Amino acid sequence: MAGASEEMEDGFEVNPLANPKGIKLSCHLCQKPARIQCPSCRSTYYCSVDDQLADWRSIHSQVCSLIASLKPPETHANSDTERKQRKKHQQQTRDRITEMALTEARKHLHNEDYTLAFPPSLLALKLLTDTHGPAHLELTPALLLLAQSSLGQDQLRNAEKFLSQAHWTVLQNSQTSASLHSQLHRNLGLLAAAREEYLMAKKHFAEDIYQSSIAYGTQSIKTVGGLFQLGNIFLKEDKPVVAQSFFNEVIKIWLIHLDGIIQEMIKALQTPPSTFALPGTKDPLDSIDTMNVAERVEARQQLQTVLSLQEIQSPSFAYKACFTLSLLHVIMKEYPQSLAYIDECTKIKTGSSTVIEEREFEVGAETTGKDIEILVATLREKEMFKNDK
Ligand SMILES: [Zn+2]
Ligand SMILES: [Zn+2]
Repeated sequence: MAGASEEMEDGFEVNPLANPKGIKLSCHLCQKPARIQCPSCRSTYYCSVDDQLADWRSIHSQVCSLIASLKPPETHANSDTERKQRKKHQQQTRDRITEMALTEARKHLHNEDYTLAFPPSLLALKLLTDTHGPAHLELTPALLLLAQSSLGQDQLRNAEKFLSQAHWTVLQNSQTSASLHSQLHRNLGLLAAAREEYLMAKKHFAEDIYQSSIAYGTQSIKTVGGLFQLGNIFLKEDKPVVAQSFFNEVIKIWLIHLDGIIQEMIKALQTPPSTFALPGTKDPLDSIDTMNVAERVEARQQLQTVLSLQEIQSPSFAYKACFTLSLLHVIMKEYPQSLAYIDECTKIKTGSSTVIEEREFEVGAETTGKDIEILVATLREKEMFKNDK
C-alpha cells in the first residue's frame, strides 16, 4: 500500500511474526498465513500491513487493549475461587468486546461503509464462537452482518457462505424467533436478487414478510423492508402495477408511523410546562420515541427511492411520498428539507394538469401541511431559546 505509513494513526505499529515451527497462524481477516502480529495485544495476526491497517481503522484500535487483557496471565491462579473469578472477568470482557464490535458493524452498515463493516462483524463472530461454540444460534447476528457487508461489496460467494451458515444454524434450532427468520430471509432474498434469481428472491421476501408480520405485525416498520424489496423485484420484472401496490403499502406504513410520532410531539408541545419545573426537568419531547438512526435511514432511502421511480409516478403517489418525507425530516430536525417537501406537495396539488379531486390528496394522516409549518416554527423557536440560555 503506497503511503500507508504516513496515514497510519497513532499507536499503529507493525510487528513481524517469528512464526514458531509447527504452529500455523492465519490472518484474522482473510485466513491467509500470518506474517505479522499486533504488537500491543500480541494475539491478533495478519497476512499483511494492509489487512492490519484495515482492521485497526474499523475496530481494532478500539478493542486492542481489551483483547490484550484476555490473554492468560503469566502466573497460575492460586485457588479455585481465583480461577473462577478470572474466568468470569474474561467472559465479561469478551461480551463487552462483542457488543462493541456488533454496534460498530451496524453503524458502518447504516453508513453504507460495507468494507469497514467487515472486520468488526468478523471479530464478533470469532468471540461469539469462543463463547458459545460453533453453529450456535447466538452466532446468527454476526453471520447476518457479515453477509450484509459482503452483499454490499458485491462479494456474492462470501455472502452465500455466511448466509448458508446462518440458515443452517437457524434450522438446527427449534427455538428461533420469527424475527430472526425474517432477517435471514431478507438477506437470502437480497442475495438472490443480486444474482437476478427473481423467483427465489420473491419466495424469500414473502417468507420475510410473513415472519416479520408474526413478530411485529403487518403494519410494522420492521415489516416494511420486505415489502419494499418485493416491490423492487416486480419493478425489475417489468411489472410496475404490481410494484406500485407494494410501494403504496410502504409509504402507508411509514406515513402512519411518522404521523403518530408527530401527533405525540404536537401534544407534548401543547402541554404547559409545570410552574414548579426545576431546571434540568425532562422535556416531554425527549420521551417520545422518534426512531433510531437505522430506522430513519431506512425510511429516507425507501421513500426517496419510490419518489424517484418515473415508471410508476402519479400525482397522488408523489404527493403522499413527499408528505411522508416532510414528516420524517421534522423528527430528524432537518426543517428546511421538511418545509421544502411541503412546498413540493403544494406544487403537485396545484400543478397537476388533470383535474384531480381533492380527496385524491387525502393522505390519511391526522397531521396537515399547516400543522407541520406551525410545528417547525415552534421547534425552531424552542431550539433558539435553548441556545440562548
Ligand atoms: Zn489477511
Ligand atoms: Zn492489538
